Amino acid sequence: MPKAIGFAAQAADQALEYFEFERRDPTADDVEIEIAYCGVCHSDLHQARNEWGGTVFPCVPGHEIVGKVTRVGSKVSKYKVGDTVGVGCMVDSCRTCANCEDGYEQYCDNGFVGTYNGEDKHMGGVTFGGYSNRITVAQDFVLKVSDKLDLAGVAPLLCAGITTYSPLRHWGVTKGHKVGVVGLGGLGHMAVKIAKAMGAEVVLFTTSPNKVDDAKRLGADHVVISKDEEQMKAWRNSLDFILNTVAAPHDLDAYLTLLRLDGTMTLVGVPAESHPSPAVFNLIAKRRSLAGSLIGGIAETQEMLDFCAEHGITSDIEMIAMDEINEAYERMLKSDVKYRFVIDMATLKQK
Ligand code: NAP
Ligand code: ZN
Ligand code: ZN
Repeated sequence: MPKAIGFAAQAADQALEYFEFERRDPTADDVEIEIAYCGVCHSDLHQARNEWGGTVFPCVPGHEIVGKVTRVGSKVSKYKVGDTVGVGCMVDSCRTCANCEDGYEQYCDNGFVGTYNGEDKHMGGVTFGGYSNRITVAQDFVLKVSDKLDLAGVAPLLCAGITTYSPLRHWGVTKGHKVGVVGLGGLGHMAVKIAKAMGAEVVLFTTSPNKVDDAKRLGADHVVISKDEEQMKAWRNSLDFILNTVAAPHDLDAYLTLLRLDGTMTLVGVPAESHPSPAVFNLIAKRRSLAGSLIGGIAETQEMLDFCAEHGITSDIEMIAMDEINEAYERMLKSDVKYRFVIDMATLKQK
């Protein structure tokens, strides 16, 4: 079996460090990928520190993977050696439940297999993610990546891109809509770019006054400092849709009141602690909805990658070396990321 190297957390309170493990040889249906870049999602931090519970250690995070195919199994028809490909948050699902059949593998009734900390059906134990030099994945869970785009900037599309694209599509965001995006981090900055490309008027809500110029450069038509009540008031009853990407508990009512009749706020951020419960009155007052959304299905992820290629959309990234990951996590906690860390896997060396 091929040896793999990566970075793992050995316990919730420990820094990530060098780790060696095994990957499976490709089965007939598998694609083996040499990882070139892996994005750093806030979910990686939540899970490496067991903030959601259920993390099995050692934990090798990483689910924004791009690289080149190095080997394929005998029945693989979708990919060949040398192809540029991506892997996102899932590496398998039951493939037979109604949701899987409809292309909603992320909502698999039997639970999808996460790219890391998922049940590894081949090797036993849990799956290991993209903070590593190679990965073996079933062809149906591998994505085609355009060679025309900057590969490192494509990596974050595999989670931050699809997690924002999917709800924007599902709630029908289009020209003429006023769309709020809450939080300018990895997910938020992709939401701004994608909502803008879908034709919406985009209002970005941030707690960081130093991000105003960047938000405008990224495509926001308006930027609101969310701690400023007067600025918030000016947007009451006006937004068709809000995508809330914030990774910490906060007052949801402050945003619900900004929705117009029949507007929806969809939560994609998953803080370690719950938000304070919103006031029912703010929901009934304008028949507003509060919703949630989880990543996106495989077919929709391919659609998103193609949409981004067509519109020239990639993530704004800060490239880091593998051994800078712990410092990157600390900066992420301070909302100090412009706007996604991406690990250059060429910096991961055998010890
Ligand atoms: P991130 O890069 O750290 O961005 C989060 C942003 O939220 C920050 O940049 C900051 O933006 C804002 N923020 C942080 N703390 C805040 C606070 N106390 N009050 C208000 N705003 C605050 O994180 P990310 O990678 O985009 O992920 C965001 C969340 O989505 C995480 O919880 C992650 O686990 C979750 N997630 C969910 C899915 C899904 O399928 N639903 C997929 C991926 C990630 P400003 O500086 O602009 O205020
Ligand atoms: Zn993620
Ligand atoms: Zn299923």
